[in-house]
Amino acid sequence: MQSIRSKLSVLLIICSIIAITLITVFVNITVNSKFNEYMVDTQNKRYERIVSILQEIYKRDGKWTNDSGTELLHEAYMGNYCLTLLDKNKKSIWGMDPNDIKDKQHLNTMVVNEKGIYTSKRFEIKVNGEVVGYVDIGQYSSVLLSDEDVNFKLSINKSIITSGVITLFIIILISLYFSKKFSIPIKDVANLSVSLSKGNFNTKSSTKSNIEELENLRKSVNILAEKLKYQDMLRKRLVSDISHEIRAPLNVLQNNLEAIIDGLFPASTERLNYLNEEVVRFGRLLNNLDVLKEFEAESIKLNFGNVVLDELIQGICEEYYMTAKNKGIVLSYDFEPNQDYSLTGDKDKLKQVFINLISNALKFTTCNGKVLIKMYKNNENIIIEVEDNGIGIKEEDLPFIFERLYRGDKSRHEIEGSGIGLTIVKNIIQLHSGSIDVESKEGKGTKFKITLNK
Ligand code: ADP
Repeated sequence: MQSIRSKLSVLLIICSIIAITLITVFVNITVNSKFNEYMVDTQNKRYERIVSILQEIYKRDGKWTNDSGTELLHEAYMGNYCLTLLDKNKKSIWGMDPNDIKDKQHLNTMVVNEKGIYTSKRFEIKVNGEVVGYVDIGQYSSVLLSDEDVNFKLSINKSIITSGVITLFIIILISLYFSKKFSIPIKDVANLSVSLSKGNFNTKSSTKSNIEELENLRKSVNILAEKLKYQDMLRKRLVSDISHEIRAPLNVLQNNLEAIIDGLFPASTERLNYLNEEVVRFGRLLNNLDVLKEFEAESIKLNFGNVVLDELIQGICEEYYMTAKNKGIVLSYDFEPNQDYSLTGDKDKLKQVFINLISNALKFTTCNGKVLIKMYKNNENIIIEVEDNGIGIKEEDLPFIFERLYRGDKSRHEIEGSGIGLTIVKNIIQLHSGSIDVESKEGKGTKFKITLNK
């Protein structure tokens, strides 16, 4: 298999060779034909000049003599054409021998073109409208070219070919440069995807490209790598979280049961109740995992109906009022007045969302704290904010809080929880085509913002 670089280079070079050859041939043909036209024009002017000189001579002398116009012979000999002067009866006055110029022309092969056949043209010499004689002009090619003409033509051809070769050379260099520019980022991305497929998620492509599509490809593969790395990390964390959640109640049960068996602890009702609580906690964890499974399998069915959010949230606040009061927390709500907060949704599921958020806010807020639920409208969207001034969430935990079984460190060690509340919240909101965002500062508090569409 060929590399993309060599394939691209070969392709570009072949295209340039074809293009340059075509241009060179085309320019060559055009220049040659224009040059020939010019030479034919020059030749015709020469014929006219010879005729008019002979006319002038006849006018001056009134008759032909043996040396009328013989001054033209030298020029004719040098110019490789043959002159013969005839009187009005077509009787030769003087003439050149075509063999003289033939011998001379053999020295220059370029001049003797077109097979060297001698052709001659006859022109009338008229004075006062009357034919007084004729001149035959003969030559060994249809167009006569002097050495300078031939050299000029040759040098033009040479420069066309030289410029073609130079252009080709420049294009080859440019092709190599561009194919490198194309191939390096592609190669880099290809290497990255190979290492991703091998499970190495720590690699990244850093070869930037100024070609938009390649740069987008590089960025998206980097994002893919980032996401795979994140998913891999979550998977590992999930396994460790599950084993942690299972091991904790099991250890308690095992230690206590062993102590009872060894006779260290009495099997009192109080102790058995305590152990039963652990079993219940364990069962709750499994139930939570079941709930999660149901949501993640997307098999959950929503019972859509009209939900009046202000009534719903108000009701939940009333339910939690005592819990908040007992913890010394002020739980309040603030709804923008004169607005219609009803929407189409699953009432029970939405209730679950607000219960999870409000109970979290109360759970993670210490006494003398405040939990405030705000609701307002923005165009057709209903926005609900659940804000507390509790312990807040660490910046490094923030991206993970909506993940399954994710629990902040503090929550894991000091506060009861399952780590699935927010995962369920996010799932329900997404099923309602809404969105949820979180802002939090450790030690300052947390604000969840839900946007729902009517
Ligand atoms: P949990 O059962 O632990 O509350 P959640 O999925 O509801 O599980 O929450 C996940 C984690 O997000 C919690 O363990 C906690 O670290 C953090 N979190 C959620 N809500 C808040 C809040 N209002 N204040 C501080 N931390 C919170």
